[in-house]
Amino acid sequence: MEAIKEPNSKFVKVRCPKCKNEQIIFGKASTEIKCLVCGKVLADPTGGKSKVKARILEVLE
Ligand SMILES: [Zn+2]
Repeated sequence: MEAIKEPNSKFVKVRCPKCKNEQIIFGKASTEIKCLVCGKVLADPTGGKSKVKARILEVLE
């Protein structure tokens, strides 16, 4: 099976507001995304599209 590429499927580079760690996360994750360093929640799943709480530095397409 081939993966269907959806237009909203983007990776974003974010900076953790707490520890300044830069991390690339999936912009449409269905689960909570936490900072790998300090564990702060960076994005919440909200109906298919993540609500990113961290500062977005770059959108990777
Ligand atoms: Zn952090």
